[in-house]
Amino acid sequence: MSPAPSTSKLVLITGVSGFVGSATTLEFLQKGWRVRGTVRSQAKADAWLKKYPEHANNIEFVIVKELAEDGAFDEAIKGVDAVAHTASPFFTTFKDNVKDMLEPALKGTTSILKAAKSEPSVKSVVITSSLAAAQDISKGDDVGFTRTSEVWSPFVWEEACLFKVPIFTYLASKTFAEKAAWKFVEEEKPHFTMSTIVPPIILGPALQPVQSLSDLNLSAAAIWSIVDAEEIPMTAVPVFINVIDVAKAHYEAIARATSNRYLFIGGENSNSEIARILKEEFPEQAHRIPTKEAVGATPNPHWSWDSSPAERELGIQYTSLRDTVKAAGQQLFSAEKALRLGGQV
Ligand code: NAP
Repeated sequence: MSPAPSTSKLVLITGVSGFVGSATTLEFLQKGWRVRGTVRSQAKADAWLKKYPEHANNIEFVIVKELAEDGAFDEAIKGVDAVAHTASPFFTTFKDNVKDMLEPALKGTTSILKAAKSEPSVKSVVITSSLAAAQDISKGDDVGFTRTSEVWSPFVWEEACLFKVPIFTYLASKTFAEKAAWKFVEEEKPHFTMSTIVPPIILGPALQPVQSLSDLNLSAAAIWSIVDAEEIPMTAVPVFINVIDVAKAHYEAIARATSNRYLFIGGENSNSEIARILKEEFPEQAHRIPTKEAVGATPNPHWSWDSSPAERELGIQYTSLRDTVKAAGQQLFSAEKALRLGGQV
């Protein structure tokens, strides 16, 4: 790790190889910041630089193989002005629910906050949480219920350790991580500001290096899974946010040094609507988009939400589902063509 010689501000971003991490990195670079990014291997750093050689002078990489390792960020934190912690396990298959999911999510968050507390240069921290941490299960799909950033998921560590259903484990991992972050702020009263961004499913172009379209992160794969399917699949989450909006929120929370929990929902999500948009925006691909709908492709009426604090405090204007799907479709269809021709994306 050799610090880039510049006077511009330096942000530590974890999980640069990821969907959210790549978009967030590009947002900071475009705003004139330098980035120190964590990746799990040199190969991941090389792939990122191969995709974005124009940023080589303003990004440096630190290898953090495992978020749960003690002192994972002790070196990476040195001299940074801010931290955007996006890395967290986001898979549906794992060997060990505690070691592979719960511990990296929780310990990665507490370890980066401890590291930031030991580094006087850090002025603000932003953490990528998830709607997973803001579910009031007792309300179900209650149409009369308005979800706000006051809502917390009621997971209990001991129960989560015993229960090994992947989606449940992911939801629990994000809840423990975000709760631990706010507990840290309450108890440790650090010298920096901290905000959390609480997004539902994040859609939009996959800006991270991608080797193959079967290797997309889970949420980018959600749109691609409609193409060439026999029927439009069930909608996993009935609300969405655009990935560029998420990247902007991370940047603005740091640039404006805010301290808040932002429920960050951009609009209604529906796979049947996504299929319709794909057909309309990409008529040459329309024959690949199914018409038949699986049960749940059109979500039932559900709760509403209040994400206005992010608009007011972070200056975000939410991107529509149509524009999000259009950008994702453009990227995915051209990536498919490039990969077929032996290129890389
Ligand atoms: P992603 O593409 O899978 O990125 C996850 C990143 O975390 C990758 O860089 C990954 O490294 C790294 N990582 C995972 N486990 C790790 C570990 N044990 N040690 C070190 N690094 C680890 O997923 P994403 O969609 O960008 O998710 C980023 C963040 O957004 C996560 O906190 C996720 O919970 C949150 N989020 C995502 C969505 C969504 O719909 N995508 C919705 C709500 C919240 P590798 O590349 O080496 O695997």
